[in-house]
Amino acid sequence: MRLVNAAEIAVFEQINRILHQRDICKCERCRLDVAAIVLNNLPPNYVVSTEGEVIRAVNPQLKIDVQQELEKAIARVSARPHHHRQES
Ligand SMILES: [Zn+2]
Repeated sequence: MRLVNAAEIAVFEQINRILHQRDICKCERCRLDVAAIVLNNLPPNYVVSTEGEVIRAVNPQLKIDVQQELEKAIARVSARPHHHRQES
């Protein structure tokens, strides 16, 4: 058994879909920057997962919170992508 953060699972369930709807950089760095911002803004939501069990974010409020935070984080990262900072 292990602990997993349901908020993190919810972020990675939604991040690709939302990124592909936006005209922003989709590189690994930007994707993880967005995920980090969201996960730092949301309270952790730890649940116990038994071995092999697929945990899905089933809490509807959590999904809504994650989606809202994703929108904000995407706006922030696309305005100032990390990987461009040192070039300027
Ligand atoms: Zn990028």
